[in-house]
Order: sequence, then structure tokens, then C-alpha cells
Amino acid sequence: MRIVDVRERTISISRYRDPALGGGALTTSLVAVVTDARRDGAPLTGFGFASFGRFAQGGLIRERFAPRLIAAAERDLAGADGAIDPLRAWSVMMRGEKPGGHGERCVAVGALDMALWDLAAKAAEMPVYRFLSHAAGTQSLRNEAVEVYAGGGYVYPERDVQRLVEEIQMFSDLGYARVKIKIGDSDLARARARIEAVLEGVPASSLAVDAMNAYDASHALAAASALRPYGLWWFEDVCDPLDFDTLRAVKAAYGGAIAAGEALFSLAEARLVHRYGGLDPHCDILLFDPVHCYGIPEYLRIVAELERAGWPRRAFWPHGGHLFGLHVAAGLGLGGAEVNPFAFAPLGGLHDGARIVDGRVAPPDAPGIGFELQAAARAAFATLR
Ligand SMILES: [Mg+2]
Repeated sequence: MRIVDVRERTISISRYRDPALGGGALTTSLVAVVTDARRDGAPLTGFGFASFGRFAQGGLIRERFAPRLIAAAERDLAGADGAIDPLRAWSVMMRGEKPGGHGERCVAVGALDMALWDLAAKAAEMPVYRFLSHAAGTQSLRNEAVEVYAGGGYVYPERDVQRLVEEIQMFSDLGYARVKIKIGDSDLARARARIEAVLEGVPASSLAVDAMNAYDASHALAAASALRPYGLWWFEDVCDPLDFDTLRAVKAAYGGAIAAGEALFSLAEARLVHRYGGLDPHCDILLFDPVHCYGIPEYLRIVAELERAGWPRRAFWPHGGHLFGLHVAAGLGLGGAEVNPFAFAPLGGLHDGARIVDGRVAPPDAPGIGFELQAAARAAFATLR
């Protein structure tokens, strides 16, 4: 099997259910990896995208990574069964790349990597979470259903608290018991007002807050002491992702669970937060995004090394909030997965009709990731021609 084409397109996404809010300047890259194999009368094709939050990566995909996949010989991509092995395809993409200088090339590689897992699982006629657990040797850890929470709660430009409460009610109507909202404003009174409004209907132990890496050292410490009395589920993205001095000081002052790592994109950076972030593997949460971290091969290295360093798999809750993240959490036996039910359409959220039972969702059983079962995503990928 060879890769004969890689199609790529930039689309706009929004943090809000109503994309007219908030400017809508965010983008992501959609990709389709097309092979010379056929399924149901059409070329066997894998779909992926660049997750959320880091903008589209079309230049890197078009100029560097896609041409390497298309130029690769069959023997360079094939696993023992002759089908494309995503781990080998990843090595082809990274040929000639030097260590370090991660920048956002990791996001471009991760988008293509997602499509390669979709493709390989479709070739094996397995859902990705099962295919991944075979590839990673995690069959005994695999979860058939994943603990989830609803992410969202971005600050609204008008009627903020009222709309936030409406959004939390919609999460609850969908069956989500746990939620995460954004804070990060230097105005701590506003953060407190948002938190207290949500706590009217959600227990503190089910509410996480995300400061989106916005606090400097003094605001982070002030937020830590303001938030401490609430006893929240976790306090996420406290300060600049590489400001480990502040993270360590906040951890010491805060006492409760801290979530970190969403904006760290390599094993080398994951080591740094482990060594210098002052985090506690028995209580804290690791958010590395399997797409932004160069895709699954690097994410597997991160999980394996941090597990050896004392972090349990239940500490890993990958950032993303999409169907692929659900498969990764299920296939690797991780703590759980974020879901963005309303943000980042057409790619946020899960397959149509996904049901939350006791706080858990099962990934779809269709071959691949199952974007074909998510009407909005299916329509977006259908534009890649
Ligand atoms: Mg975050």
C-alpha cells in the first residue's frame, strides 16, 4: 500500500457555539491521506486534523511532511502485514528533522499522524482505540468506555455569567456531570463570579478551571489563594507553559490538583514539567495533546517515560475534546478525555448519538476514528478533494 495523495485545507473554528462571537480568528488544518488501496469502491483514505488552539499548519504540511509520505516506497511504510504502519510512516515524515526546535512542526506532523491512524485502523477494520491498543501493547489496560467531562465556558463578550450558566445547563442536559470553564482574566473578581455561578448547579469536585496560561507570577499566586477555598476538581494552565518556577510556587501554595502540559509539545518538554514543575503524580493531571505532541508515537514515549517516573495512567487527560482524543484515552487506558460539545465545530465533540452513561462514553465501533459517524465532521472532510 502506498500513499498517493495528501489533501489539506485550512478551516475557521470558533470557541463559541455561535461562531459570530469572539472574532472567530482561530483556524485548524484538515488533512486526508489517500492510498492506492480501495475500500467500498473508493480509495482507502485516512482523515485527521490539527486539534484545537494552535492554528492551521498548511505550509509545513504541504512543503515538508506530505511530500515525504507521498515519495515513500511501500517497504518504508509497511508493517509486517503489508498495510501502512503509522509508527513507520511517522519516521518517514521526520526524516532529516533535527532534534529540538519543536515550534509548531509538531502540530503539522500530529495532524497527519491522526490521519495515518484512521487509515491504518480502517485497513485493519478496527476502531482506532482497539487498533492503537494492539500497536501500543495496552490491550489489558484498554477502556471500552472513557470518563469524560465537558470543556468550554469561554468568557462571553456580553451577558457573560448568564450565558455561562446557560452553557453549563446544556452540558448537563447532554449528560455531562463534570465541566471545565475558562478563567485567566487578571480580574479575579470576575473569575470568582463565574466559578460561583457554576457552583450553584455543579459540585466543586466536578468543576475544573482553566487559566489558559495567562497569569504572570503574581497573578498566578493571587489566583491560587483565591481558588484554594473552593476545593475545585483541578486548576489548569496556570501560567506560561515554560515558567516552572511559577508553576512550582503555585502548586506549593494551592495544595489542590493542578493540571499542566497542554502547551508542551515533546518528550523533552514533558521531562521538564515533571522535573521542575513541582507536580505530584498522585494528585495532579497531565494534559499533553496527543496531536500537538507530534502525534501518537511521541505521545506514547511521553506516557511510557512519565509512567516509569511514577505517574499513573489515570493522571493523563489529553487536551483536545474530539473523537480522536476519546479513542486515545480508551486505547491507552488513560484517566479520561475532554469533550468540547459546542466549541470548535465542525470537529469538536463526539460521534452523533454518543451516550454518556455514568460519566463515561464508549468510542464508536466503526473502523477508524469514526468521523463518518459525526455528520458535521464528515461534511468538512468531504470538502477535501
Ligand atoms: Mg487548557
